[in-house]
Amino acid sequence: NNGRWDEIWLAGLRDTAPETIFDKLIGGDIPASVVYEDDKVFAFKDINPAAPAHILVIPKDRMNLSGLRKSSPEHVEILGKLLVAAGEISKNKELGFGDGGARIVINDGEDAGQEVPHLHVHVLGGRSMVWPPG
Ligand code: 5GP
Repeated sequence: NNGRWDEIWLAGLRDTAPETIFDKLIGGDIPASVVYEDDKVFAFKDINPAAPAHILVIPKDRMNLSGLRKSSPEHVEILGKLLVAAGEISKNKELGFGDGGARIVINDGEDAGQEVPHLHVHVLGGRSMVWPPG
């Protein structure tokens, strides 16, 4: 039923959407290549990789965090967990990461190119990066 999926997809682009496409991945309704999971954090391969290794790290419970700009002291713990998981993932050779480090990115808002309003940390690696980013 394409109509239903279109509805979920479009709703997932709205800042105030109760859920986004990422909830479908967490819930297993849409298959994801999961690389790490615990009670709070979910990490999976980006479907459209921008580098040889490209993992997204997200909170299982969005906690109103459509983006980092929505963060407040109640989010300190989950934000810490996301970064610790990102750092750990960026060392994983089996995922394509090398010894030279990784680019850890949060696209926060429209100007940054954010597409999914459920906070996510990009972990990109397996090649050298340029600065400034595009
Ligand atoms: P943003 O542009 O919001 O920072 O990043 C969203 C990312 O989510 C993009 O890199 C995009 O490729 C990825 N993405 C969107 N939908 C899906 C999906 O259904 N599965 C997976 N694995 N990644 C997705």
